Order: sequence, then C-alpha cells, then structure tokens
Amino acid sequence: MPKDFLAGVQSEYDVVVIGSGLAGMTSANILGRAGHRVLLLEQHYKLGGLATWFKRPGGHTFDISLHGFPYGMLKSCKRYWNDDIASNIVQLNNIRFDNPMFSLTTTYNREDFTALLESHFKIPRETIVQFFDTARGMNFYDDQSLSTRELFHKFFPGREDIVRLLMEPITYANGSTLEDPAITYGIVFSNFMAKGVFIYEGGTDDLVSKMQAEMTRNGVDSRIKCDVSKILVQNGKVRGVEVNGKQIRCRAVVSNSNLRATIFNLVGQDHFDPKFVQDAQAVRLNNSSTQVYMAIKPGVEIPESTGDLLFCSTANAFRTDLLLDRNITSRTFSFYYPRTRPDGKQRHAIVSSTNANWSDWADLDQQAYQESKKDLIETTLDALEKYVPNCREKIEWVEAATPRTFHHYTKHVSGASFGTKFEGLGVSRGLPQQIQGLYHAGSVGIIMSGWLGAINYGVIVSNEVDQMLSKTALPTPS
Ligand SMILES: Cc1cc2nc3c(=O)[nH]c(=O)nc-3n(C[C@H](O)[C@H](O)[C@H](O)COP(=O)(O)OP(=O)(O)OC[C@H]3O[C@@H](n4cnc5c(N)ncnc54)[C@H](O)[C@@H]3O)c2cc1C
Repeated sequence: MPKDFLAGVQSEYDVVVIGSGLAGMTSANILGRAGHRVLLLEQHYKLGGLATWFKRPGGHTFDISLHGFPYGMLKSCKRYWNDDIASNIVQLNNIRFDNPMFSLTTTYNREDFTALLESHFKIPRETIVQFFDTARGMNFYDDQSLSTRELFHKFFPGREDIVRLLMEPITYANGSTLEDPAITYGIVFSNFMAKGVFIYEGGTDDLVSKMQAEMTRNGVDSRIKCDVSKILVQNGKVRGVEVNGKQIRCRAVVSNSNLRATIFNLVGQDHFDPKFVQDAQAVRLNNSSTQVYMAIKPGVEIPESTGDLLFCSTANAFRTDLLLDRNITSRTFSFYYPRTRPDGKQRHAIVSSTNANWSDWADLDQQAYQESKKDLIETTLDALEKYVPNCREKIEWVEAATPRTFHHYTKHVSGASFGTKFEGLGVSRGLPQQIQGLYHAGSVGIIMSGWLGAINYGVIVSNEVDQMLSKTALPTPS
C-alpha cells in the first residue's frame, strides 16, 4: 500500500502553510511559536524549496542557491529562528570580477567599493558618496518611475564599466535588470554594501534540518509529499485546503507557492474581483536559471585565491538580453572549499549559475534537451579552464540543471528562480483584502526575493496572520 503522508493529521488547524520555501517555513515557525496550530504542507520529498541541495556518490553534496546573501540574514535568523542557526552565518571575502572591461577582487562592501570606484574607475569621492547615500535612502514608498538604468546614468553617465560592476551581482542575486524600478536595485544593493556577502557554513542541508527541528519544537506539523490541489473558499473566506485527496479545515492559508499558481490554480479566478484578476494576469514572472554542478576529485585542492564568488563574462558589454541568452557569455562560479561543510567529507565543489529564459528550454524534445544540457556542461567547463587549469582532469562528477529542473522540483510557473517582477508585490499584498484568511509569502517583487527577502516576507505575513487569527472566530464544521 502506498505510504500515507497525511497519517495522523488533524481535521482542522488554525493555519495551513502551503510550501516549505524559506518564506513558508519562517511563517510556519513564527505562527507555531505564537501558539497557533500550524500545518505545513510540501509537495516535494524534502523541505526547503529552492533553498536545497542534493548528494552524489563519493561524498559530494551540491547546494543550489547557497551563493551569498546580505548580513541582514544573520539578524533575521537570530530573531525568527535561533542562535545556533545565526551563528553559522559567515562572510565571504573573495568576490572576483573578470570580464573584457576589468578584472578585480573585492570584499563587496561600501568601504571597498568606494576605494575601487575612486582609484580604479577614477570617480570623484563626492559622486560616490552621493550615489551610495541615494541608494541607501531608497524605500518601497519612493517614486517607482525611475529605472535602474536612469539611476546609473544620473551618477555615472556613459560608464558602461561601472554599470557592470554595480549591476552584475544584483542581476545574478535577484534577476533584476536595468529596466526595473531603481528601488529594486537600491534596496538590495545597499543591503549587500552594508557589510558584504555572507553564506551559511555547514551547507543548506544543515540549515534546513535545523529549521525543521526548530519548527517541531514550536509544534508545527510538517508533511512532505503533500501536494495541495485546492484552497477552499466559501463566502469570501478561506475554509481549508484539499491535499492528497483529503480536505483539511483552517481559518487562514499562507501560500508559499508561486503567486500566479496560488491565484489561478489553487483558488481560481472566480473568487476575485475582475480588476484584481486583471492585475494578477499582468504580473510578469522573473527569469529562470541554469546551473552546472562540478565535484572535485578527493585529494585535489583548489587554491582559495581562486575566489569564493567569481562573476565572469566574455561579453564586451553588459546587457540584460546577453545575460539571459542561451548562447551563454556570463557565468557566476561559486567555489565551495572544505570549510563550507566543516563536519563533512573534505570536498571541493564548484557550481556555475546563469540566468536563463524558460522559452529556450521548455519545448525541446528529449533528444534536443539532453544535447542542450551536454552543450551547457561542455561550454561551462571550457569557461572554467581559465580559472581552474586542467579542470576536466580534476572533476569527478558533473551534471546540469535547467529551467525545467527548477519547475519540476518547485512547481514554479516557467521555472522562475526569483518569483515575480515588481508588480507582483502589490498583488501578493492584496490577497487578504480579496479573500479573508488568504495570504501569500514568498519571492515576489524582486525586493522580497532571495534568502533574506523570502525570510523577511515570511515574517511580515506571519504577523498579519497572527493578528487575523486573534480577531476571528473558529469556523463551524460544514
Ligand atoms: C539557481 C538559483 C540560485 C539562487 N541563488 C541565490 C543566492 O545566492 N542567494 C539568495 O539569497 N537567493 C538565491 N536564489 C533565490 C532563493 O533561493 C529564493 O528566492 C528563495 O529560496 C525562495 O524562497 P520562497 O520562500 O519564495 O520559496 P521557494 O523556495 O520558491 O519554495 C516554494 C515551495 O512551495 C512548494 N509548493 C509549491 N506549490 C505547492 C503545492 N501546491 N503544494 C505543496 N507545496 C507546494 C514548492 O515545492 C517549494 O518547496 C537562487 C535561486 C536559484 C533558482
């Protein structure tokens, strides 16, 4: 008989969280800690969403999205998770750029960038100070008509090299482009510039297992392999969810599933105002990604001077379409040294990541898909050769992931890596006004993307759910 992943589940909870990405888990943890009865349902066979990892023979573990986040992650983990998790957050010091315009290494914080812009790029200090202050002063309520391109033009007109230095890592970190509102750049860039780039030492597997243990301590009932097919709505209120053929009642739902999937697939557009449906239909998804995972043979060392994060490109100019093009010219290499998993086997790994279009991969037949993956691997190894000489001889295992892989594991529409573009934030925030008890937390609007953005969005939404639950009465069983 197939295993019942809902065995022992209650017929009713205060809140059901759909999806165990960082936003979903954070919401569940805070609500559980506040004493609410919480059920967390994840369709995949492990928790974490895009914050995930996989293992391969030879003691190799690959992280999918553990490449770097701002310092704020430490504070959020301390406050909303626990000290043990927060204490594993450490800084990455070797951030490298290598492209036809410049090659340099930086600690990627305001002090170092000020020195670089002044000495290497010959920008007057006053302009640099004004630029940083403008970026740091940006917030959600600012004028959204200024684009990132216009922001750069204001301070560094005609300086394509500086645009590249300032934009390349952010495009990689949240999929934002020069055409997006400047605040999506300013807020995220300033978060990084505050102290630099940080990572979780111990690996994503360690982080997620510690989060799972913390949720259990806080009474959260979490289930894997539970694919929610419907959010039940009656008279404009959330009544429950349908999962694995079972109905479970609740007063609130926090959906960590893709925003568009939540509205159009899980709820159904008939439950919303026509104007809201129109706005939701207009929400653009963010781009997807490809990755190549490479494991180094035991005993082979990669010198740490190779860098922690390497933004490399052979393109002469920095352009959004080039970053997404299937004919890849820009890659970000993450180098994982044995210190990444101090308690694990002493292994080196390299992951190459590139932003990508869903359309370049979606409709390929099996043979064309496999050939395209092979080409992705070979061209990535060619590019790596410059930084890790004879890399093919040093590598024991290599494989690739595509937008189809991300779609397969997370159900994100079009394999979106960073949720939606900016307009998604307003739609996500508007859900509870449409249906009482319906909330969404997860990568939206660029600002609320990435590990820190997702966790912080989970915090904001859980506070709102907490207030709503305290105010409303229990539903009568139907
Ligand atoms: C290749 C790549 C590299 C990245 N690198 C970085 C990085 O270096 N730094 C950084 O900060 N961020 C990075 N990110 C982004 C970051 O990983 C995400 O923004 C963040 O993890 C998203 O969290 P989330 O809470 O939005 O949910 P997700 O991680 O998107 O999880 C959503 C969850 O919901 C589940 N789900 C969906 N539908 C259902 C359903 N119907 N029933 C049950 N469960 C469901 C999914 O299975 C999934 O587990 C990267 C992303 C990618 C793809």
